[in-house]
Amino acid sequence: MQQSAEAYARAEKVIPGGVTANIKYFDPHPIFMKKAAGSHLYDADGNHYVDYLLSYGALIHGHGHPSIKKAVIRQMEEDGTTIYGTPHEGEVEMAEQLCSLYPGMERVRYTNSGLEATLLALRVAKAYTGRPKIAKFEGHYHGGYDQVLWSIHPDEQEAGDAEEPNPVPESSGLPEYYQDHTIILPFNDLESTERILRRHAGEISALMMEPVQGGYIPADQSFMDGVRRVTKELGILLIMDEVKTGFRLSLGGAQKTYGIIPDLTALGKVLGGGFPVGAVGGAEHVMEVLNPKRSYDVMSGSSSDQPRALFHSGTYNGHPTVLAAGMATIDLLQQRGVMEDLMTKTHKLRKHLEDLYKVMGVPMKTVGTGSIFNVMMTDGDIRNYRDLQHVDMTFRKRVDERLLQLGVYTKPLNRYSMSTVHTEADIQFTVDAHEKAVKNVKG
Ligand code: PMP
Repeated sequence: MQQSAEAYARAEKVIPGGVTANIKYFDPHPIFMKKAAGSHLYDADGNHYVDYLLSYGALIHGHGHPSIKKAVIRQMEEDGTTIYGTPHEGEVEMAEQLCSLYPGMERVRYTNSGLEATLLALRVAKAYTGRPKIAKFEGHYHGGYDQVLWSIHPDEQEAGDAEEPNPVPESSGLPEYYQDHTIILPFNDLESTERILRRHAGEISALMMEPVQGGYIPADQSFMDGVRRVTKELGILLIMDEVKTGFRLSLGGAQKTYGIIPDLTALGKVLGGGFPVGAVGGAEHVMEVLNPKRSYDVMSGSSSDQPRALFHSGTYNGHPTVLAAGMATIDLLQQRGVMEDLMTKTHKLRKHLEDLYKVMGVPMKTVGTGSIFNVMMTDGDIRNYRDLQHVDMTFRKRVDERLLQLGVYTKPLNRYSMSTVHTEADIQFTVDAHEKAVKNVKG
């Protein structure tokens, strides 16, 4: 790890902590990558890894897929630009695609990240309902900004009663205002969720949720049904943050799998085929708040009787190159048998790992859905953030560190994302590496 150590020492001199996102750090220093192909990463020291990070789930077809590469090059060479800065038909084509796949999408706007998508969805909900507060679940991540950086990894002491969680800031620098304006709910506990929502009814614009917490802890079907029922009754918009689950549970995301129609949906990650992207989709009447034709007509000086449009801007929104990569990504997923094969592969790896740990006498279960799962050193149920507090993370971290040395890339304690290009050989290699890692850690 000489090269990585040197690169890290250099990075620390110009980048805080040597990393461009806090989560990229791990002890003693992160590994610097130099190349990637398919399901493999190659580091600066010449080691290679089977990649299960896949850029936090974004790369559903692995690294440098030829069809995605071709679409990007075609877009730049034949259409002659990286970005027009004007409307173009690629935006329409993608929006049509999304509206046909996602039950909750009738109108679409683009952003440049998942964070921006959830942020826009919240503003749409506030503009639509005229209510100031939002609700979110403990342990759910929606991006790094003031409204939602609450109760993501709270200390149990600070988080208080599991049925009445306190809002706990995830970061320094968060305005106190949001402590009262971001209501925290317990995931997969319908009775408490309903009680808290009713208490604040009339003030809450939106309940934003990950239908699958962290991409691997699914909501119970009855919980999802209950959340949809109660939000509808209270006039609270339901925002499904499908940044992680989009295209991973099914082509139409978790909403298709659960049979739930949210009022708004946020997408990101897979949608960009490896390029930065986000999208917000929703019911026509809700998304109409974004229609610029509603606003005061400055040029003619005439004021319409419509309320002011919600401000949404972005130099790179609907970027042609990004959308070309995204369209190629979706086209590949729509090919016959591709999604089924991805699910089968994911199940296979999970089953082989569970069988292996059983034989080794180490408590472990995989928790997940679609093509994402996590390895949990426990026999117990994992249904929400509080359940995670009772899992042995120390042992898992040591296994992950050993796995890195053996050539399996999961950032320590991260989940596993599978791609359509992982092979049988990758799966076997990974199971063998787990066997070696666990034996080594057990001593
Ligand atoms: N929502 C969820 C559910 C996510 O997993 C993430 C990213 N991990 C985001 C939002 C933010 O997306 P981005 O990192 O593209 O801003």
